[in-house]
Amino acid sequence: MALISCPECDHQVSDTALKCSQCGMQLRKPRRSIIGKFFKWGFILFNLLMAIWMFSYFGFIGESMNGATSEAEQAGTAIGSTLGVGMLLVFWALGDVILGLFVMFTRPKS
Ligand SMILES: [Zn+2]
Repeated sequence: MALISCPECDHQVSDTALKCSQCGMQLRKPRRSIIGKFFKWGFILFNLLMAIWMFSYFGFIGESMNGATSEAEQAGTAIGSTLGVGMLLVFWALGDVILGLFVMFTRPKS
């Protein structure tokens, strides 16, 4: 363990300390644990995947709307896709809340 001097008050502090014991100046950024990193990237990846899924789903709706020959078929596609999008959004929101909580719990303490 080495001692370094605080850039703010020149107080000698351990180089493993996150904050200066004298003035409370932040010396190092707290590191996120591996689990924390895992959840953080999982959260980003999840949102990315959901966005891609949403886009491809809208493309699919557009195609089936164009392919629908009768009005009944169009209405069916419209209802079906509305339900599909609604479920997708609920799933997205739920995933975000759950993953977001994990990201918050695994956040580094300063
Ligand atoms: Zn200091």
